[in-house]
Amino acid sequence: MASELGIQEQVFGGEHHSGRVARPLWTAMKRGALGRCPHCGEGKLFAGFTKSVDKCSVCGEELHHHRADDLPAYLVIVIVGHIVLGSFMALEATSTLSMWQHIAIWVPLTIALSVALLQPVKGAVIGLQWALYMHGFGGEKDATEPRPGT
Ligand SMILES: [Zn+2]
Repeated sequence: MASELGIQEQVFGGEHHSGRVARPLWTAMKRGALGRCPHCGEGKLFAGFTKSVDKCSVCGEELHHHRADDLPAYLVIVIVGHIVLGSFMALEATSTLSMWQHIAIWVPLTIALSVALLQPVKGAVIGLQWALYMHGFGGEKDATEPRPGT
């Protein structure tokens, strides 16, 4: 339909203009979130809690190109903040718990959720960067951009 009308089909998450094969964004993010290589879904993505492997041991895909940096932590704050604040306000409005009871519920839950989500969220961010050919994942020189004035 689009081609009949002469309209170029827009492909999100791919590199339509550069002729690169579009990598499956959601599949890559899901594989990353499960701690697997975004390319093959088999090899391990993490060597430690948040330390990613340099290379997939199964398919050999180079994974050290990612620049997840602080993004996983910011995303975890957003996710946990919404869950904990929303649940706190709902419980506060519908119960008569004391402040100490609230502290006993929400502080451990906040810590547990943050620890539990950090690795999956980082894996999903790495999957996203891989799927979108970001940083060195597209084969470009993987150097830090020069700062202005240097
Ligand atoms: Zn792999």
